[in-house]
Amino acid sequence: MLDLELSPELQELQIRARKVAAEGVADYGMHTDSWINGYSKEFSKRLAEEGWIGMTWPVEHGGGGQSNLARIIMGEAMISAGAPIAASWFADRQMGPALFTYGTEDQQAEFLPGMLSGETTWCIGMSEPDAGSDLAGLKTSAVRDGDVFVVNGQKIWTSFAADADYCYLICRTSSDGPPHKGVSELIVPMNLPGIEVRPITDMTTNRHFCEVYFDDVRVPAENLVGVEGNAFKQTMAQLEHERGGIDRLVSNKPLYDRAVAAADTSDPRIRQEIARLETGYRLGRVLVYREALKQAPAGFSAATKCFCTEHQQHVADFAASVLGMEAVADDYFNRAIAYGPAYTIMGGTSDIMRNILGERVLGLPREPRP
Ligand SMILES: Cc1cc2nc3c(=O)[nH]c(=O)nc-3n(C[C@H](O)[C@H](O)[C@H](O)COP(=O)(O)OP(=O)(O)OC[C@H]3O[C@@H](n4cnc5c(N)ncnc54)[C@H](O)[C@@H]3O)c2cc1C
Repeated sequence: MLDLELSPELQELQIRARKVAAEGVADYGMHTDSWINGYSKEFSKRLAEEGWIGMTWPVEHGGGGQSNLARIIMGEAMISAGAPIAASWFADRQMGPALFTYGTEDQQAEFLPGMLSGETTWCIGMSEPDAGSDLAGLKTSAVRDGDVFVVNGQKIWTSFAADADYCYLICRTSSDGPPHKGVSELIVPMNLPGIEVRPITDMTTNRHFCEVYFDDVRVPAENLVGVEGNAFKQTMAQLEHERGGIDRLVSNKPLYDRAVAAADTSDPRIRQEIARLETGYRLGRVLVYREALKQAPAGFSAATKCFCTEHQQHVADFAASVLGMEAVADDYFNRAIAYGPAYTIMGGTSDIMRNILGERVLGLPREPRP
């Protein structure tokens, strides 16, 4: 059963990870939502030296073979300090597990070592201008032509496309049958001819978002991951895994800590709000641990994501209310607060999470599609 007592080994890991995180912040700055906004290849290489990339991957694939709990301890230390782990987090969390689960031996041999050493950065090409929540509606096409797929279309909100070496592309290889059929996953080297990346600056001045245009891009057919036309399940499994992690809970912990330090705790309303948020952190951590220990029901990561990301928005609201003018005048505070809405959008919006919860976990009747 769920046991929140950390073993001596995990306590040791926590101490070490907090120390390395503090060094990362000192060297490369403190970032809000640092697994997506804090990009430093140098720091990712440092993580690799510590064995903290792929720490839960199987040993036979070069991973650490450690528990999910160990990864949570390390991840929480990094993200709650604001340390820049974005250059390797996507590959560690998603692409590596996708490749050792569905990839060929050649793909594993070619791509996993670069992820593990922190040398390669990956982006996720999923969302399109007309296909975000309704991912099955994606139109970017990959048409087989001998030993290549020819890719055409457009992705948007692709974090790090301008820096990434590879895009893990979700695309359509067939339009026959229902929309979720005919979806495939391709590894696309970002230096192929025909790829144009246009960075987007968001309202907080972060620059990880990009539009990516594919114009007759010829991708080797051996870069197909899993079964052609049958990848929707693979993609959904990745998303389910992605949603229940510690990165959904502590991404603005540095903001919380600084807001509490600045708050007037002689005000009982502020003390009550702090108590509410402290409770939220504890409840959220229980939900995340349950996901990591595989004790949550199937599909429940939707509820975990909803709870944890809405908690992060409460933190941003709290900071805005207690910091007063400082929330506007201070560059760190105003960016961290303005970033709040992103939490319940990325990885699937709260509306979509509630649909999943209602339909798949609680078995409630489904709203008929128009
Ligand atoms: C910080 C950040 C990083 C991101 N990084 C990436 C990335 O690296 N790669 C990538 O591919 N994408 C990325 N995204 C995009 C993200 O996955 C999408 O924004 C998200 O899935 C929502 O899609 P959308 O923006 O098209 O909104 P839409 O799907 O158009 O939704 C608009 C509104 O309608 C609501 N809605 C839609 N459908 C339903 C429904 N069936 N029931 C109820 N309500 C509904 C939504 O909840 C939302 O409020 C990122 C987003 C953010 C904020």
